[in-house]
Amino acid sequence: MKRVHIAPTLLDAQLAVDALSCVGIATHIFNANAAGALGEVPFMQAQPEIWVEDDRLAARASEVLADFLNARPGEEKVCPHCGERNPGNFLSCWHCGGALSA
Ligand SMILES: [Zn+2]
Repeated sequence: MKRVHIAPTLLDAQLAVDALSCVGIATHIFNANAAGALGEVPFMQAQPEIWVEDDRLAARASEVLADFLNARPGEEKVCPHCGERNPGNFLSCWHCGGALSA
């Protein structure tokens, strides 16, 4: 087991884990439940950590994560339905829920 990433939020951790599972890298999230314990746990210790099961895949995982993290949020997308601006990594409009074009 090797730690490859510390995510700012559990959602970020989950997105990163999804990206890694897409390329067949098995991971675990630690501290996943610690976010609710802020105030009791020092901040840095409460952030979700992503660990790769197979140490040999850690370097590959870091590459995938670097690409993934650099790719988002990217350019804003303007919703074709309501005209609201959305971060580039959104698949549907936060405002009206309509599908955003890629
Ligand atoms: Zn919209």
